Amino acid sequence: MAYAYDPTNIFARILRGEIPNNTVLETEHTLAFRDIAPQAPDHVLVIPKGPYATFDHFSNEASDAEILDFYRTAGQVCKMLGIEPGEGGMGFRAITNSGEHGVQDVPHFHMHILAGRVLGRMLSRG
Ligand code: AMP
Repeated sequence: MAYAYDPTNIFARILRGEIPNNTVLETEHTLAFRDIAPQAPDHVLVIPKGPYATFDHFSNEASDAEILDFYRTAGQVCKMLGIEPGEGGMGFRAITNSGEHGVQDVPHFHMHILAGRVLGRMLSRG
C-alpha cells in the first residue's frame, strides 16, 4: 500500500512559511524548531522537509541524503542544547509517535528531543 501524506498538516504549513516557528537549526533537508507546548525545559522537534507522514514512511522512502541529514541535524541539536551524556550533558529522550496507537497528532514525521529534567519511565500505563 502506498503511503499517504496530507499537505494541510501544521508542519507542512510551517515548512511553507505560512505560520512562524522558533527555529533551532535548519539544513538543506531538515528543520529543527521548539515545540509550542514544551513538556520539558528543552523540547525540540526535528522534521524532514520532505512529505513523509510517519517514521516508517520516512525510513522506507526518503533518500539516503535526507536520512543522513535528518540524523546529523538531530545530533547537532543535542550538541547545541548541551545535553549529550558523553559530553557532560544530563541526557535526553528522543521519541517519534506514529499513527493511532502511537498517538501521533501531527501527520508529518517528527522526532521529539526532550531534555532538561528527569523524564520518568518511558511509558505510563493507560
Ligand atoms: P505528536 O503528538 O507526536 O504528533 O506531537 C506533535 C507536537 O507538535 C506536539 O508536541 C505539539 O505541541 C507540537 N506542535 C503543534 N503545533 C505546533 C506549532 N505550530 N509549533 C510548534 N510545535 C507545535
